[in-house]
Amino acid sequence: MALHRFSMPTPVKITGRSSSITNSFVNGIIPVIEPTHKELEEACSILGMEYGVALHCVYCGGDVTEWDHLRPIVKNQRPTGYISEIRNLVPACGTCNQSKGNRDWRAWMEGKERTRLRPGYEDRVLRLEHYEQWGNVQPVDLSKLVSADAWTAHWENWRRVLDVMKESQPLADQIREAIRRNYRRQDDL
Ligand SMILES: [Zn+2]
Repeated sequence: MALHRFSMPTPVKITGRSSSITNSFVNGIIPVIEPTHKELEEACSILGMEYGVALHCVYCGGDVTEWDHLRPIVKNQRPTGYISEIRNLVPACGTCNQSKGNRDWRAWMEGKERTRLRPGYEDRVLRLEHYEQWGNVQPVDLSKLVSADAWTAHWENWRRVLDVMKESQPLADQIREAIRRNYRRQDDL
């Protein structure tokens, strides 16, 4: 909705960035497997599109700006076992991608007017079901593919970063309060 009144910017907390940090620690270890042209054509034809000619968001039918992980990469602060490969990627618009987040695509689509009320909804759900069957991607226990030491060290790093962020918050609060107290506009001096 358009704004016609003053609105205070939301105060930023250092700890409010924790989930971005977690996403980075997960995404930072997820390999990206480049699809072949043939795979891209096959993927798009299952979705009822022609690769390189016309793509639209698999969720709402809008303009495509990115490829979204159909099955989420991150859940409960850990990798789900799905990676970045064509069978787990679908063309999407940024709005749907951000709104869906780490949720299951079907539950999210059903609960979202943005997708449910757009023409072609039923067809898009069916296409996505076919895509899932085509992909038949199963989650892999990624921790089993690397040394236990490396895996443990990575999650210890993650924990350390979050701990430092948490420890930094009270000091940031103090500094902000001190600046607020001592701040004088230039025309008051
Ligand atoms: Zn969309």
